[in-house]
Formats: sequence, C-alpha cells, structure tokens
Amino acid sequence: MALMTGEQYVESMRKLKLNVYMFGRKIESPVDDPILRPSLNSVKATYDLAQLPEYEDLMTVTLADGRKINRFTNIHRSADDLVKKVKMQRLCGQKTAACFQRCVGMDAFNAVWSTTYETDKKYGTCYHDNFKKYVRMVQDADLTVDGAMTDPKGDRSLAPSAQSDPDLFLHVVEKREDGIVVTGAKAHQTGIINSQEVIVMPTISMGPDDKDYAVSFAVPTDAKGITMIIGRQSCDTRKLEGSQMDVGNSEFGGVEALVVFDNVFVPNDRIFLNGEHEFAGMLVERFAGYHRQSYGGCKVGVGDVLIGASALAADYNGAAKASHIKDKLIEMTHLNETLYCCGIACSAEGTQTESGNYLIDLLLANVCKQNVTRFPYEIARLAEDIAGGLMVTAPSEKDLRDPKIGPLVEKYFKGVEHVSTENRLRCLRLIENLTLGSAAVGYRTESLHGAGSPQAQRIMISRQGNIAMKKELAKAIAKIKE
Ligand code: SF4
Ligand code: FE
Repeated sequence: MALMTGEQYVESMRKLKLNVYMFGRKIESPVDDPILRPSLNSVKATYDLAQLPEYEDLMTVTLADGRKINRFTNIHRSADDLVKKVKMQRLCGQKTAACFQRCVGMDAFNAVWSTTYETDKKYGTCYHDNFKKYVRMVQDADLTVDGAMTDPKGDRSLAPSAQSDPDLFLHVVEKREDGIVVTGAKAHQTGIINSQEVIVMPTISMGPDDKDYAVSFAVPTDAKGITMIIGRQSCDTRKLEGSQMDVGNSEFGGVEALVVFDNVFVPNDRIFLNGEHEFAGMLVERFAGYHRQSYGGCKVGVGDVLIGASALAADYNGAAKASHIKDKLIEMTHLNETLYCCGIACSAEGTQTESGNYLIDLLLANVCKQNVTRFPYEIARLAEDIAGGLMVTAPSEKDLRDPKIGPLVEKYFKGVEHVSTENRLRCLRLIENLTLGSAAVGYRTESLHGAGSPQAQRIMISRQGNIAMKKELAKAIAKIKE
C-alpha cells in the first residue's frame, strides 16, 4: 500500500480493538469520542498534508528503491533529511497548534536502527535484521508508531532491579522458544491511542543486574494484555459542551496515556534488544537526542500560531501601534526563531552512524531542548501580557448567544469598531487554550519535561561541551606553558 489518506488512517484506527479507559470507564470507540477526537485529527493531519503537492518535498520521501513514504516513517539518510524533518514538524505545528504525536515513532525508528546495528556487531544477534523488516512493514502500510520510553520509575534513587515493585520498570518476565513475555508500564505516552503500533525502549542506562529491563521490541497497540489510561488535560471536559468557541482549538489537540503491559507476548522477530544492558544507554541517548531536535520544529510551529494570535489580539484591542506591543512581538519572534535555529543547527551538523543513517549533533540538540524548557514559557507570558485579562474572565459562548444577556456581552467586550466581539473572544480563547488550556500540556509542561527534564540536557551538555579543549585554547592565547 502506498501513502494512506487521512480518511484511510481514521478507518484503520477504527478497526483496532484498543483497550482504552478514561474517567473510570472503557471507551468503546476512541475515534468517535469528543474529548479524544481532536488528538486523532492532529495525527490525521500528518496524512492529509502528505497528500498535498505543495508539501510533498517536506512530508514525503522517495527512497532509492522508488518507494514513496511519509517522512514520519523515514530513516534519515543525510543531514538534509534531518533538516527537512524539522521543517516538516514546524509546518505540522503551524497547521494544528497542537502535538501531532507521530514524531515519537520516527525518533524511535532512527535510534533503534543504529543501536541494533551496533548491538549486532558486538554480539552477533539479529536485531537489526528484525528491525529492518519491521521498518519496511511500517513504511509500506504507512502506520503511526508510538515510541515508548518513559517508565514510571518508582523510587528515583534505585536501579530498576532494586525497586520494591519489579514492574515499575518494564521487564521480561518469561523467555519462551518463540519469544518473550513482558510486564510493566510506560507513562506519558504521547499519541498511543492514535497509533497502530508501539516500539518499546528502555528508559535509562542499565547495569548487569538490570538485564531483564534492557529490552526493546514492537507490538500492535491492540495486543493482548495492553491497557491505556488517558491522562486528563486542563479544561478537557469543555469539549463535551458543544461550543466551538470556548475550547479555543476545536479541531486539533494532543493526548497522553499511561500504558500498562500485563504479560504481553512479543514474538522473536519483533525483539530489538534483550539483555544487552550496555546498549540501553545508547538507545536512550539517541532517542532523546532525536526528540530534543524534534522540539526545535514542533514547538516553533505552535509558537507561530501563538505569536499570530497575540498580534491579532493587539489588533482587535486597538493596541497594535503601541511601541511596547511591537517590541513584545519582536521578542516573541526572536525567542521562537532561536529555537528554530537550534533545531536546524543540530540537524545540519548531523553525522552518519555506523549503520548508515544520520544522527543529529547531540550537543546542539541538547542545547535546543534546554532552550525549549524556557522560551515557550516566556512566549506564553508575553502572549498573556498582550491579550489582557479578558482571556481568563470572558463569559462563555452560551452567554454570548443568549437573547437577554448576549447583547450585554457583545456591547461591553467590543474592541475596535470593525471587529466583532465574537472574533475578539475566539482569538482570546485560542491564547487561553495554548497557555493554560488543554494545549498547554504540549506547549508548556511538555516543553519542560518531554524528551527529558532540563537536568537531563544539562548532563548531556556537560558531557559534550569539551571544556578540556576550551582550556587549551585559552592557554594558547595567554601563552601559558605548564
Ligand atoms: Fe512531535 Fe512535538 Fe508532539 Fe513530540 S511534542 S510528538 S515532537 S509534536
Ligand atoms: Fe514529546
């Protein structure tokens, strides 16, 4: 099968027998649930955009053997591929103003691709062959894959094997002739309910005692033994009220879930790491590096929408000409483009791995994500500054539509003469959605903790920063002889 259309993707999701829970009940059809549907629409956008000729170069890749695939299933073959990945993510962020979820699979693809190659080289295992076949299947069927890394982790001071509950890190509980059986969980799983497949990876570097935890594999998301529990988002139940206006972004959204693996069977040909504990760290470092690069695209695209909404709010308030407003918009643009610079730089400086695919510059990718832990917060603060207090005190759409009090809302919340109160409120609700509503999960807290919390990047920056070389530079200039 070639590229799927958005509609074909939705139908493929409808056929899955997912085991999804939300608000204490099983969701029989996540595809049709009003709280969850916007998140599906965001993934659907990655299929819809790939059908448009104007985005063909960013959204698709034509491989050496002639196959045309969605870039979200690509194994990066050049630094240019890495650059185009970031540009594609900015585009998707601009079109959805939400987390479109499909990047975690792409990032897992590239991390597992090179790590399996190097594991096989050392141990003579056949993980890379397994993975190559898996990649081919996903590309040809144009599937969405969740890359699942984060374990619940229990007591952070203890290694996986030292936890009082052995399941706090996902692990192998049985080895069989035809495969393995795993138990545990992955937390904060972006887009898992909108994915047909999940690739599981270990979450930290591991020692010899943690062999059973050093495991990577792929299973369908509706495999026997998998349960997903949806994480609730700020203002999520507004989506049940039937108001397009009050939700701010009625079409698109993101979703996260706790995914529990209860004795899930994995056949041999879907295993990509099984006990080679010293490669767990490599897999984590590479996956995190790719995902830290990703944020230099997606968050920038969402930032573009937030900057646009802020400028619109200023227009509607009649404040666009004020010099401090202009300056705030410049500052927001400067911060947003700085993130983009980092995303592009770590891509352009990418290098080839032993397996042939391209890895981002890890130092620059970590600098990118460290900035992402800060700048969206400042951009959001400036957006709230420009928007004014009405973004959190405005009455509901029902009040605006009410025959008796609607005219009062209309009259007293009017800004400039030529813009309707409704349009002014729509714009403010979008800013609310991005800064403290359901999309703030992706734009703020995920910017802080997604792909690793700030300290994780600082550790990588300290490892990659090469202070010793810099000391030598200083000594040479100062003519210091030791
Ligand atoms: Fe993609 Fe960004 Fe969502 Fe991660 S947070 S899956 S990079 S859109
Ligand atoms: Fe993420």
